Amino acid sequence: MAQTNQSPKVKAVILLSGGLDSTLAAYLMQKQSIDLIALNFISPFCLCNKKGGCAHGAREISKNLNLEFVTIDNSDEMLEAVKKPKYGYGSNMNPCLDCRIIMLKKTKEFMSEIGASFVITGEVLEQRPMSQKRHLLRLVEKESGLEGLILRPLSAKMLDETIPEKQGLVDRAQMLDICGRSRKGQIELVKEFGINDYPCPAGGCLLTDPNFCRRLKDLMKYNAQFTLNDVLLLKLGRHFRLNPELKLIVGRNELENSSLLNLVKSGDSVFRPKEEIAGPTAIARGKMVCQDRQMAVNIVSRYCDKLENEPTQIIVEDSQNNTGITLESPRVEEGLIEKLKI
Ligand code: SF4
Repeated sequence: MAQTNQSPKVKAVILLSGGLDSTLAAYLMQKQSIDLIALNFISPFCLCNKKGGCAHGAREISKNLNLEFVTIDNSDEMLEAVKKPKYGYGSNMNPCLDCRIIMLKKTKEFMSEIGASFVITGEVLEQRPMSQKRHLLRLVEKESGLEGLILRPLSAKMLDETIPEKQGLVDRAQMLDICGRSRKGQIELVKEFGINDYPCPAGGCLLTDPNFCRRLKDLMKYNAQFTLNDVLLLKLGRHFRLNPELKLIVGRNELENSSLLNLVKSGDSVFRPKEEIAGPTAIARGKMVCQDRQMAVNIVSRYCDKLENEPTQIIVEDSQNNTGITLESPRVEEGLIEKLKI
């Protein structure tokens, strides 16, 4: 079914993460006469140091390639997958197979909404042990209901012919045969396409970051019913486990201090130093008794600028009834505070 000049262009969705591989896949597919729509998934586990996050990077790439750009939020599904992954975790808390299945199921729905014929991904055969082995690529296709409809241009020549290739919608001769963890093939393509800037070259997912995963494991241990708000808190500040039912999060800079305040929910207590003292904002979440409150004050004051010969005064506000009390911090025991750090 070759296209003629009169035929309407075939539509395909490209999953654009903002990482290198999907960017290269997009550049490769632009050579073919296909109407590409870039799709990006928003998740609370995205790690990107660039301003605006990964969606920003993917949006910029879409702009460069003149592609329509759409985002879909899969936070709820990812939260459930992290709590109980059907196919287990990778080397950290990354449920990669479940994650790919979630994305592709949502893509399938999106494809039928816009009338797209197939989907393109930047996956590279054998690059990631948990999701890119041949049989796992097949499993994901089957589970997502997209058998034969996922084209992986970077590795297509190493994989079975897809339906769009069989139908002549895509020229298989222009597809590549990259395989494995070496990024040599991708680096050559970067030069060929003249790409100067790409965010998250090796992908950016907090679920593969051991520090983030330590906090996540603590959350799962003490609060199995955690919500998106709890996950967003994991991305901010220093975390302290004061007792099995109480956690303290202390901002590390002004931006984190205000971000913490945006995440305060009913039942939380907010700590901050008295006006004349420079120091962090903190949130205590959970059941707090008197001695916990004092310990939280001690920890917050540890990160305040000290007034000479005076105890640090910390204001404690209860978010439920907005009452505030001021507590003074005695000398802080550094070793104890370190022990409570998550
Ligand atoms: S690394 Fe993270 S974003 Fe990537 S597939 Fe695994 S869970 Fe999903």
